[in-house]
Amino acid sequence: MSTPAVPVHIVVPTPAHSSAAPILSYAHDVPLPAGTLVRVPLGAREVLGITWDEPQGAGSEPPKLRRVAAVLEGLAPLPAPWRRLVAFTARYYQRSLGEVALSALPPSLRELTADQLARRLRRVPPGTPAPDADPAASSETIVLSAEQQGAAAEMDAHSGPFLLFGSTGSGKTEVYLHAVQAALTRDPGAQALVLVPEINLTPQLEARFRERFEALWGASAIVSLHSAMTPAQRLRSWLAAHTGQARIVLGTRMAILASLPRLVLIVVDEEHDASYKQQEGARYSARDLAVWRARDVGARVILGSATPSLESWHASDPAAPRYQRLHMPARIGAGELPRLRLIDMSQQPRKAVFAPPLIAAITERVQRGEQCLVLLNRRGFAPVLHCGACGWKSGCPHCSATQVFHKSDRTLRCHHCGAASPVPRACPDCGNPDILPIGRGTEQLEEQLAQLLRNVITPQRRAARVARIDADTTRARGALKAQLAQMHAGDVDVLVGTQMVAKGHDFRRVTLVAAVQPDGALFSSDFRAPERLFALLMQAGGRAGRDARYMKAQQSAPELWVQTWHPEHPLFAALRGHDYPAFAARQLAEREAAGMPPFSHQALLRADARTQEAAQDFLRAASEAARTAQLPGMDQVFLYPPVPLAVQRVANVERAQMLLESHHRGALQHLLAAWQPLLHAERTRHRALVRWLIDVDPQAI
Ligand code: ADP
Ligand code: ZN
Ligand code: ZN
Repeated sequence: MSTPAVPVHIVVPTPAHSSAAPILSYAHDVPLPAGTLVRVPLGAREVLGITWDEPQGAGSEPPKLRRVAAVLEGLAPLPAPWRRLVAFTARYYQRSLGEVALSALPPSLRELTADQLARRLRRVPPGTPAPDADPAASSETIVLSAEQQGAAAEMDAHSGPFLLFGSTGSGKTEVYLHAVQAALTRDPGAQALVLVPEINLTPQLEARFRERFEALWGASAIVSLHSAMTPAQRLRSWLAAHTGQARIVLGTRMAILASLPRLVLIVVDEEHDASYKQQEGARYSARDLAVWRARDVGARVILGSATPSLESWHASDPAAPRYQRLHMPARIGAGELPRLRLIDMSQQPRKAVFAPPLIAAITERVQRGEQCLVLLNRRGFAPVLHCGACGWKSGCPHCSATQVFHKSDRTLRCHHCGAASPVPRACPDCGNPDILPIGRGTEQLEEQLAQLLRNVITPQRRAARVARIDADTTRARGALKAQLAQMHAGDVDVLVGTQMVAKGHDFRRVTLVAAVQPDGALFSSDFRAPERLFALLMQAGGRAGRDARYMKAQQSAPELWVQTWHPEHPLFAALRGHDYPAFAARQLAEREAAGMPPFSHQALLRADARTQEAAQDFLRAASEAARTAQLPGMDQVFLYPPVPLAVQRVANVERAQMLLESHHRGALQHLLAAWQPLLHAERTRHRALVRWLIDVDPQAI
């Protein structure tokens, strides 16, 4: 007879939409508390699993259960609130529990044996946070402005969620620091999570948090968590958060799924930012999960932005507020917001990339020792090669997109599938040797600007320096950090870049920001494009004139220059007045009239297949199946016809999607959940289908 055993319920990594039971049963000598990490056999492999609460309506156990191979001792079970969060995420975003739960753990944890983990844990000091020193130890010498005090007082007095609507440079970060300090002082052992949209913003934020809180709670109380860390670093941060040793976790969207047993506060900085939405696997919104998680555990949540998402703005509408809106309109030190200088490109010399008045303005600033930022709002504007004789364009052989000309290594590269090839000597179609780039990328802009500014001398009696930051110049680890450091040190006079330079940075000497070709977003088919453009221009403009004292000493005023062919567009009128509320009101009125989010809820069903026809066939069959089965919620959900994606073909795969829309979130959720089994069944009938996926609350249509 084998040793007596008890059944344990375990979540294992199951494929994305696996129809296998989400929770499997195994046998073990003793009962294991839910949330325990174990290693179990799965098929022929051994995998990491998490013991789970008993599934509802579980039938009798099959007689012969496989045994748990090992228990990862020494690690406290993942707490119930974490399990609830993961289960909600899986349910809401229509993915398997196993996929979401296991992918929320640091990758290296999945590979460690019980012994290896035990060794690792011995190296992490046990979860005793540094004793709370007296608050006087903090280096906080900053006196909050009246507006900051007002916001902080509201956060003390109410439970939120809060939408901190503060102009760029109004000192939102200072309010976060204050809120974190207040929450962690009140409750020894409590934890705060601070989310930022971009990895490149974490070092600056981390420095500010360390400066403020290391004296108070020790260096090990503050950790970062983001995808640019090495697996070992990530594991260390994750363990520190899970054991409670870390009091403050700073991270990108992935950090929302960290185990934080004593979480009392979540901050979502730049809450409008699209990068909070995961674009693969479980396509969750870290911002929305932050609100859910905070409510679930009774923590406070602060969403901060100068240009909130229309969803959050609407939710904080004073007429029926779900979020409490806190307004900080003034800049610190009574600094001015940048004045808008709109250039009508139809009045400029033909083919001018930079309008002469803009070059004059940049020249003047550089001669005074001030810095300028030139923004190209998409890498997608990068140049393609073109043959003037036959009209050939450098198309990607695998995608319905053009390949981009990269001058530095003379390659053509596809930004969708990554395919790269050397630049041809002559036009592949007609043999014309004279093929030229059309359109401008950041590389060309940098070159051209350097050329235009070649005779400009700074007060330090050196030639003006132009530098560029984009995905190409920052590929090497640490490159971006080094480049930003040069900018902060004043070694660069004009910085040319994509949106990664526009967000969040606290540049002290930038006084002029210019957006060179923003028009593409004005007439995009994506209904969120104007919202994103407005936010980007406000954010970018917000990098100018942040240091009121410097501006005064320079007798300089900040400016935001925008080159456009459509100066009459209403978006610019709101931008001129720094009037986000006016912009939002008009957008919301349009969305309400058209029944679009936040007045309705959306999901996408996407299909990738070998042909466009096959992809659309699958979608049509799926929608037919839903109708025939009369799925719950069908009567309240509108299913649009299938359409190809904007970039229809990527890496030889054709992509199509179908939009679902409803006024009732619940109806949409019911329909999606009931649809899953039908989609699995349908998939087996469509051989040319490569994959399908569901995107709930999609960011781009
Ligand atoms: P935001 O996040 O709203 O753009 P920050 O929090 O980065 O603004 O603040 C802008 C600048 O003002 C920072 O350099 C910050 O250190 C400074 N600052 C913020 N609050 C105060 C204050 N109360 N007194 C003095 N300086 C402040
Ligand atoms: Zn040709
Ligand atoms: Zn391609």
